[in-house]
Amino acid sequence: MSTALKPVSATNLPKTLIGAAAYFANPDTCFRFLVSLRWKDGVTCPHCAANGVTCKDVTFHNGKRKLWRCTGCKKQFSVKVGTIFEASPLGLDK
Ligand SMILES: [Zn+2]
Repeated sequence: MSTALKPVSATNLPKTLIGAAAYFANPDTCFRFLVSLRWKDGVTCPHCAANGVTCKDVTFHNGKRKLWRCTGCKKQFSVKVGTIFEASPLGLDK
């Protein structure tokens, strides 16, 4: 197995199912874990692959969410864009 596929935070991951449930019960921890899985070397735009992005908190009807805006193609994206989570109606903490 290639070490390049390992997330940067792999050594800090919980070792048990109960530990994982507690770990991911925190939306912020869950969010940062997803970010580290997707962008090990920093956030890049899923549309044009540029790494010039800005991050901001956006308030939705069901809570705040972090969105990035690409300074290259001007499109917005979240950590879920382009992943299996994109089509999910559930929040990351559900
Ligand atoms: Zn872009």
